[in-house]
Amino acid sequence: MKQLTIEETALDNLKEIAEKNGTPVFIIDHEKIRQNYRIFLEALPRVQAYFAVKANSNPEIVKTLYNVGASFDVASFPEFMVVYENIKSLPEKERQDFIWDKIIYANTIKRIETLHELDPYKPLVTYDNIEELKKIKDHAPHAGLVLRIRVPNTGSMVELSSKFGAHPGEAVDLIIEAFKTGLVVEGISFHVGSQCNNFENYMQALQLSASIMKESESRGHKIKILDIGGGFPVKYNSKVKSFRTLARKLNTEFDRLFPKDIEILAEPGRFMVANAATLVTKIIGKAVRDGKTCYYLDDGVYHTFSGIVFDHCTYPLKAFKEGELKVCAVFGPTCDAFDTISVAEELPELEIGDLLYAENIGAYSIASSTYFNGFPPAKVVHINK
Ligand SMILES: *Cc1c(COP(=O)(O)O)cnc(C)c1O
Repeated sequence: MKQLTIEETALDNLKEIAEKNGTPVFIIDHEKIRQNYRIFLEALPRVQAYFAVKANSNPEIVKTLYNVGASFDVASFPEFMVVYENIKSLPEKERQDFIWDKIIYANTIKRIETLHELDPYKPLVTYDNIEELKKIKDHAPHAGLVLRIRVPNTGSMVELSSKFGAHPGEAVDLIIEAFKTGLVVEGISFHVGSQCNNFENYMQALQLSASIMKESESRGHKIKILDIGGGFPVKYNSKVKSFRTLARKLNTEFDRLFPKDIEILAEPGRFMVANAATLVTKIIGKAVRDGKTCYYLDDGVYHTFSGIVFDHCTYPLKAFKEGELKVCAVFGPTCDAFDTISVAEELPELEIGDLLYAENIGAYSIASSTYFNGFPPAKVVHINK
């Protein structure tokens, strides 16, 4: 039975890269990244895309997106610097004007040391509680603020609302409080949860944001920025709803609920990179346990397959060989039984030394790879840069 989904030439190419570089090898296709950016832009013409660097913080990805005009969502000072690297060659004046257009620091909780490091750049930062507001006032008084509100995350693959976002009922008070201390709230943000397959989350979030903005304006504080966060779904399988449908709904609501002059930004992470990377890994061991064939690979859940744990994602494995598919188990290389990629994968009969590949593994994968057991993260190879 034929199991191959990508063309033979692309397969030969993957194999060649693996043979040349060794395995595990994480292959990033920059043309796919540029294509994803274009798709996003065309579908949401009023929105500026701030790529959420945490999805895949490889500096070459940041550079590619920077070159096509993207902006960035960062959540730590090191991520900030990965982006700033691209900006720092600009003349001083331009650089300062540029920074809000290019970077939002979208982690609502910041170390005091980080606030000190950020302050000279006069960054745009998010907050969602009064203690954080005091910290920003004391340690990064030059920052512009974006209030993150808590919105429904129902039906998203990764839930965020338990940890982040001010209750909508407190939002206006938090805005007024910020202005009272002399800070300026520039925007409102939310995140509907990652890989959101329930578009109602976005609709409710927009509704909530619009009413908070209205009330804030009626109390003398006009909000200029609407940040719709991430969550844009990737077509991992046929059950995922269409991004274009979501985009159409969003565009309608932007026009219906918000003033024409509002600046709209989004923080897509997964959407920009998920389908832009393929992993090639090698079978390093084989055993039959309780009648089931078990394959041991040179990559696992402590490494590129970390998304199985942290991202609640699955990455179907495919062989380069053809043959009758049989149910088998697939494990990673570490000395931990938790390092299990699948207990029910369907693969042809394979041997030690055979290669496997996993597609659509570009987001929340290598970014959370560890060095557990002394095994380093997969080698990265860039194509179509
Ligand atoms: C992770 C994250 C994103 C990116 O989310 P995706 O679902 O990958 O698009 C955007 N904004 C914030 C604040 C995040 O924490």
